[in-house]
This record gives sequence, C-alpha cells and structure tokens, in this order.
Amino acid sequence: MTALSPTRVTYPAGATTSTGTIVHVTDAGAGRFAVVLDVTAFHPVDTAWPDQPADRGTLRIGDTVHDVVDAVVGATTGEELLLGPDVPVRTGTEGWTFVVAHVAEGEAPEVGQTAEVEVDAQHRAALSAGHTACHLASLALDAALAEAWTKPAPTDALGAPAFDALAIQESRIRPDGSVDTYRIGKSLRRKGFDPSALGDLDALAARVDALLGEWIAAGGAVRIETTGEALADRRTWVCELPGAEVRIPCGGTHVSSLADLASATVAFHRREAEGGVELVMTTTAVRSSAGGGAASVVR
Ligand SMILES: [Zn+2]
Repeated sequence: MTALSPTRVTYPAGATTSTGTIVHVTDAGAGRFAVVLDVTAFHPVDTAWPDQPADRGTLRIGDTVHDVVDAVVGATTGEELLLGPDVPVRTGTEGWTFVVAHVAEGEAPEVGQTAEVEVDAQHRAALSAGHTACHLASLALDAALAEAWTKPAPTDALGAPAFDALAIQESRIRPDGSVDTYRIGKSLRRKGFDPSALGDLDALAARVDALLGEWIAAGGAVRIETTGEALADRRTWVCELPGAEVRIPCGGTHVSSLADLASATVAFHRREAEGGVELVMTTTAVRSSAGGGAASVVR
C-alpha cells in the first residue's frame, strides 16, 4: 500500500464538521469498510486507553451519506493498516503512523474522493461536558483524600497525592458524565494509602461535590494545547481553577469554559474484587443552558 500520512485532527479545537480527501479505504470485516481521510473532525476511540467513546455522525461522499458506525485508531508501519484492537502498540509509538479510521457500511468509496464529515454535535457536546467533569472529579477526589496518605506519594496537577493516577483501573466518559473505577489493593496500601479513608463514602462524596461546586462557580477557561495537528501529537487539557492552572495530558474533547457546566456531582460505591476492593466513582454533569452548544430544553 502507498505510505499513509498521519491524520490531521480538528476535534481538539472543537470542530464538528470537516471536509477531507479519502487517502485509504480498507475492508473492516462484517461487510464494513474503513475510510482514512487526510483531515477529520471525527474523534475515534483509542483502543489502548478507551476513555472517550467515538463520535457519532456521517460521511457524505458524492451523493451518498454513510452513517459512521464506529471510529477507531488505525496504525501502520508501512505494510498493512491495522485497525482498533489489532493495533499492537500505544498511540504515538515511534515507527508507526496513526490515522483515524471511519467505519461504515455499504458500497466502499474510492481513494481521491472528497468526504464531508458531520459529527453529531449534541452527542459531542455531552461527551465534552462528561470529559471535563471527569477530569475535575479526579482532581477533587485526590484533594478530598489528601489526608489519607501515610507517606509521600507522587502528586497530581494540583499538588495532592495522586490517588486517581495511582489507583485508576478504567475510566469511561459517557454523555454528561463518567464512571471511574479504582483498585484499592495491596500495592496502593504499600504506597501509603490508608483505606479507612473510604469508610464513609457519602461524606467523601460531599467533600468532592463541595470542591466541584467551588471550581465550577469560578467559571474558568478550558483549552487544549497541542504540539501539532497529527492524531498522535501530544495534547494537554489546561483548565483555570481558583489559584491554579492545571494541566493533564488528554486526547479527548472538552467544554471551552467551566461556565458551560451548571454543576458536577459524584456518587461512590464499593465492590469486592480479587485481592482487594474497587471504588467506583460515577460523575454526573449538568450543562448550563447558556453553555456553548448545550441543548436548549423546550418546555
Ligand atoms: Zn482526558
């Protein structure tokens, strides 16, 4: 196959539409095909860290509108293009080229055709709100558990012991929220975490909610900084909080201001897992009606 260039992506800046040229088409199995464009606004799910799901939307190619049934990261070393779970390396690995593969059904288009991407903007806005709330909740959780450490631990973007980074097993962004699963086991205890801090989960949620309320009320700006336009370029979530600018590496999409959120709250539950327990934090965001791109409710 001809050498592929990395897909240029415009979703980090908030784009939900784009016009690109088809640079590669491949069979995606089950009667589906995958289209690679030179540039796209479509956010794909990252197999290695699948926190934010793929966008929903369509590809208009000529007179045909294809629903995009999935969007995954594709990667190649110059031989075959591997898709999603078949990619054996993390996005950004040296020696590989990473592209956005838009998976669709029906008759496959041809290389060289123009494709207009249209992302479901309401769904994107809900995922962006969920992703920003997820980052805020992880920082608020770290802060709320700062006293639970009996020895020095690596710190997060706000300087608190990094419970989230050290214990996270899985993070799933969903429309207007997220579900984060933390492992409380021997290795976390060895690092100095005292699990008795999780004795009263309602009290913990109240402490997290109080911080979230304070931060959202301040309405700080949110932006994505990037080292380039390629899918695998490094991107950083930058958020103004009272007294601090926090930075977290992130490949997802976000609101552009905390004023786009009316509130974010969390709920915890605990479940038994092999060798310890898991703490599950469910975060729920409510977008403000004045927020950019938020759905207006017709009464
Ligand atoms: Zn993120």
